[in-house]
Amino acid sequence: LHSTEIGASQFSMQFAYDLAFNQSKNTRAILSRTVCLLIPSSNPDGHDFVVNWYRETLGTEAEGTHPPGLYHKYAGHDNNRDWFMLNLQETRVVTEVLYKEWFPQVIFDMHEMGSEGPRLVIPPHFEVTNPLIDPIIHQELRHIGDYILDELTRQNVKGIAGNTVFDMWWHGGFRTAPYFHNMVGILSEVASARLATPDTIPQSNDFFVSKDIIAPDAVLQNTPKPWNGDVWRLADIVDIEQKSAYALLEIMARGRKDVLENFYRMGRRAIEKGMQDSCKAYVIPLDQHDSSSAKKLLEILMAQGIDVYRPERIDSEKPFTGIQGYYIPTAQPYRANILCLFEPLKYPETMMRPYDITAWTLPHQMGVHFEKATQIPEGLEPIVEHEIEWPVKNDLADDALYFALDPRSNDTYRVIQELLDFDINVSRISEKTTTLPDSVGAGWFLVEATNASQTTLARLLKTNCLNVVSINYLGEIKRESFRKSRLVLMETCAGNIDQGWTRYLLDTYKIPYTILRDCELEPESLVSKYDAVILPSVSAHTLLWGESGAQLNNNHKSGLGNEGLEQLQAFVRSGGTLITFGEAAKSMAALFRLNMKNIIHPFAGFSAPGSLLQISLKPEHPLCFGMPERTAIFYNNDPVFSVQDGDIIGKYDAQEPFISGYIKNSAILKENAAMVTSDYGKGKIILFGFRPQHRGQTFSTFKLIFNSVLSSVVTPHEPSYPLPAEE
Ligand SMILES: [Zn+2]
Repeated sequence: LHSTEIGASQFSMQFAYDLAFNQSKNTRAILSRTVCLLIPSSNPDGHDFVVNWYRETLGTEAEGTHPPGLYHKYAGHDNNRDWFMLNLQETRVVTEVLYKEWFPQVIFDMHEMGSEGPRLVIPPHFEVTNPLIDPIIHQELRHIGDYILDELTRQNVKGIAGNTVFDMWWHGGFRTAPYFHNMVGILSEVASARLATPDTIPQSNDFFVSKDIIAPDAVLQNTPKPWNGDVWRLADIVDIEQKSAYALLEIMARGRKDVLENFYRMGRRAIEKGMQDSCKAYVIPLDQHDSSSAKKLLEILMAQGIDVYRPERIDSEKPFTGIQGYYIPTAQPYRANILCLFEPLKYPETMMRPYDITAWTLPHQMGVHFEKATQIPEGLEPIVEHEIEWPVKNDLADDALYFALDPRSNDTYRVIQELLDFDINVSRISEKTTTLPDSVGAGWFLVEATNASQTTLARLLKTNCLNVVSINYLGEIKRESFRKSRLVLMETCAGNIDQGWTRYLLDTYKIPYTILRDCELEPESLVSKYDAVILPSVSAHTLLWGESGAQLNNNHKSGLGNEGLEQLQAFVRSGGTLITFGEAAKSMAALFRLNMKNIIHPFAGFSAPGSLLQISLKPEHPLCFGMPERTAIFYNNDPVFSVQDGDIIGKYDAQEPFISGYIKNSAILKENAAMVTSDYGKGKIILFGFRPQHRGQTFSTFKLIFNSVLSSVVTPHEPSYPLPAEE
């Protein structure tokens, strides 16, 4: 998966060769009693990217370092954070193999970690444990981990550790998502060399909870045979992976009957539990604020092997009496997956930090309304993937003056961008109105009805899910026009994952942009050439002075430096819009000396490590068009502003902000700002005190970004036809 962890893809070729040609009794027994699917690399272009860098830098100071930039176009290391959302093509392909085609009982996920500490980390994995995981999974993990430990110790491999670092809480990884599908996900983490260059490693007890209090040469219970430090090579990594993979297949071959039976038992147990649940099915009603996100949620559930039902479409004699919508019964083998994605999570009070995030609850994160059915109504039929339809209004009347597009659907913003690409005239209603039909009002887009716009819209509506209403009479309404935004995505030379996911979002919604890297910023790069700049989450230090390693073997400067910052300030002062996410909002509030204070600091006694919180939004503000009054946000100890001067767009109000995950001392958030816009010269800065595009998963807050970009190119609407002369 991870392209800088290069051992596994080297191992896989050797392993395939050995399985094919090794005639030993052991190998033949494995082949006759198991089915082994081998994924040599799930990110081959990332692998090439790392190999090319390694070859280029051989013999230089940078030999063995990680390449600057992301080894997955959008996700970098986050290509292993996508296993419930399936944004990436690679994740979708493998997910299909796992949950719909092959149903493996055990998944072996091979990684490399830092270079110090144990040579190999295997199961059992670490606390905290997600209560939805079937206990059989824990038993099997322990059993398999012990076998690998025994087998490798017998072969004199030193430094094997279990029960450390990698937790059992989180859902979104290649080895963790399978737990919620009754599959045993085994993580192996082997110590790294310097890519393919050997490294000399001292003995240490790094990677253990107790590392601060235990001497580096102490004997530890979970590393019965310690490693004493030595030269560490790529060949050592491949060797240890080869031995552990063989050990795994051996125990699978021997325990074949038990493993299969356990898989069956877990599935059956899940169905039985579902039949006892008070919630018999989660229902996604057809009446949704954002129908495109509701449709997307169903698509990703089904891609993960979840069965979904809907009322029979043919009118029977007995009309359907339940809620009109899509039904997800809990009595199915992947029940744990359904509950884990629908029910709010509560990470326990503990000293242990989560390995990744604490919450991902999809309906909240995606802004999708759901209900719980206590009974399964009669008349449901199962659906297959390509059958998801959403009953939206797609009214493109021939005699229309305008087509009005519903701003509540995320898909609408993709359609708007494509219309602008075709130079089709688009404006937006900017004030409340009661004269228009079908709740058309503030925030709705108006597309002048022409043959061209009608044909283009008809085509776009085949693949986008939104309401379109024909308007014959407009009356006196206030509206604004806009053109295509000249948008810059500011990236750092070293590359950062939040930047990658921002690119993913812009590409997915077809918003054009130019990438400017901090190291490429020339004087006068920005002023009057662009309308808006997006700064994804990055610390002030990295933004200004770059990341270590970025300058290695690379003549570029790294970081904006003082001149770059001055340019950015001049850009905003002259009328530009600066859009900042998370850490970047904190950095810019300070560097632009805005009149507000970030209240989150190490002594605030506050923490919310990757949780879902709720905020209220400023009604009728153009940045909130298409948004509900309250929204869930993804929050990861981001800044929270106490604002003296600025327009508060989103804030923590009297209601408890916590939805899912973990929060400590939520009271300090109250009445403080989560999203602010502040004038600066002729322009403005928009500060998001959260990650509105986090991993491409936060569908509930995408529109706040789309509106921010559109706000950079808004002008009062000029009528395109002459007004009658005043009498
Ligand atoms: Zn990894």
